[in-house]
Amino acid sequence: MDIKFVKTSSPKARIPDSELGFGKYFTDHMFIMEYNNDIGWHNARIVPFENISLHPASTVLHYGAEIFEGLKAYRTADGSVRLFRPEENIKRMNSSAERMCLPLLDEADALEALLKFVDTERDWVPHSEGTSLYLRPFMIGNDEHLGVHAVSNAIFYIIASPSGSYYKEGINPVNIMIESEDVRAVRGGTGFTKCGGNYAASTRAGKRAEEKGYSQVLWLDGVERKYIEEVGAMNVMFKIDGEIVTPALTGSILPGITRKSCIEVLKSKGYNVSERLLSVDELVNAMKSGKLEEAWGCGTAAVVSPIGKLSYLDEEYVINGGRIGEVTQMLYDTLTGIQWGKIEDTFGWIKEV
Ligand SMILES: *Cc1c(COP(=O)(O)O)cnc(C)c1O
Repeated sequence: MDIKFVKTSSPKARIPDSELGFGKYFTDHMFIMEYNNDIGWHNARIVPFENISLHPASTVLHYGAEIFEGLKAYRTADGSVRLFRPEENIKRMNSSAERMCLPLLDEADALEALLKFVDTERDWVPHSEGTSLYLRPFMIGNDEHLGVHAVSNAIFYIIASPSGSYYKEGINPVNIMIESEDVRAVRGGTGFTKCGGNYAASTRAGKRAEEKGYSQVLWLDGVERKYIEEVGAMNVMFKIDGEIVTPALTGSILPGITRKSCIEVLKSKGYNVSERLLSVDELVNAMKSGKLEEAWGCGTAAVVSPIGKLSYLDEEYVINGGRIGEVTQMLYDTLTGIQWGKIEDTFGWIKEV
């Protein structure tokens, strides 16, 4: 693919790693490519980071035609830069695009764009322990009229944000509220896609949970509000009486790459993993009887995040004494070890930039 490059004439000052936080600062450049039904994807370019100008009737502004991905570039001790399973993000973006009637990407071209972009921004990948360059590919529908149709025009972008360590003070378990009123997604809907609309619809529950002192919501299924689905931006796993359980991908759950990687690590270490329906009643009973041994969320941002407390209908349950469990710790150490090059990648997950 031909990717034009326009270098910034005003490089930004670097932010100290300790002040990065998440998603607040952006690098010097951005990748852009446009799509039109007649010519397909065209005009691929890496240009100085700047505001986007859109027609006020642009589809994305009215009908939510937007999908995104999230992945990180990691710097290893020897200074090299690498991605974790980027092909999976591209495949998932295409699966989201298909559902949302946005154009599909050529997978090889998208990977080339991602690698070239990260290479351009290589110096922005921070060096401190636990830090990374967060990459945000996204696509918007951009027809310049108000009719409701599958779009004929779209734009694909990649932006990057140097991000701080998720666990600055060691791995702290998170407290999570099981949401019994709002739902995030239903089967047949868009729950399996990474689309902005899913987040727009879930903000209210997240806000309420925060007001009660919980950091995120654990969603129940949208039809019966009976089965466990996932946490805000993480999939969820439990160890119940020796069995490792994670909700099956029924269509309303985001198929996380961290989830998939956890399952593969667990299987490689001889654990059985049940991908099945898990009702909130079964979970509450396991918490009451002390059979819930561990609970953790898994997603790119935190990698693995132990759940210390779960609340349901105003009852609060402490899990594993509020400490990180053995399996959770093993998964965290294995995945972060592979990502930052501290342990060998026997799975073939790393893509060097
Ligand atoms: C991105 C996301 C996840 C985690 O997916 P990863 O590929 O592991 O980062 C889980 N749930 C939702 C709703 C998400 O948007």
